[in-house]
Amino acid sequence: MKLSIVEYPDKRLRQKSVEVKDFDENLHNLLDAMYPIMINTNGIGLAAIQVAHPLRALILNIPDEDGEQPRENLFEIINPVVVKADGETVYQEGCLSVPQFYEDIKRHEFITINYQDRDGNTKTLDADGLLAIAIQHEMDHLEGILFIDKLSYARRKKFEKEYKRLQKERKSSK
Ligand SMILES: [Zn+2]
Repeated sequence: MKLSIVEYPDKRLRQKSVEVKDFDENLHNLLDAMYPIMINTNGIGLAAIQVAHPLRALILNIPDEDGEQPRENLFEIINPVVVKADGETVYQEGCLSVPQFYEDIKRHEFITINYQDRDGNTKTLDADGLLAIAIQHEMDHLEGILFIDKLSYARRKKFEKEYKRLQKERKSSK
């Protein structure tokens, strides 16, 4: 399966992802193809919609203390539902679909989700720190929401201007 990352302002990122019903080979192939894309682009999380598959599926691989992302730390999260959210934290976020832009975003500090794994087994995950932040960022993708949507009006305007300039630079260097 050949996948590539959909980048803002592509409208496909605004789609609402649909529930996964079949935990079959198609889903497994998609998840298996998402992993190398995320790692090769230095990402810590990737939602299926970011590779043009509007399914409620996402993967996360938070770096350990040494900055490594061993595959055994990989989470494959299907049909997640938030069951508890608490506290407040601010972190400088980026997104593979909004390359080269980073901004402080406010999120819940602790989050508990129910989800299914690639075989459809139901699981619960209590998360804090970067994992909690990344879960919220990726779950927003399932609703067609991007982290830049959370910026103030003034910052968003500044972003649009900067992003256009960055895109032009990237195009001319290709
Ligand atoms: Zn993102």
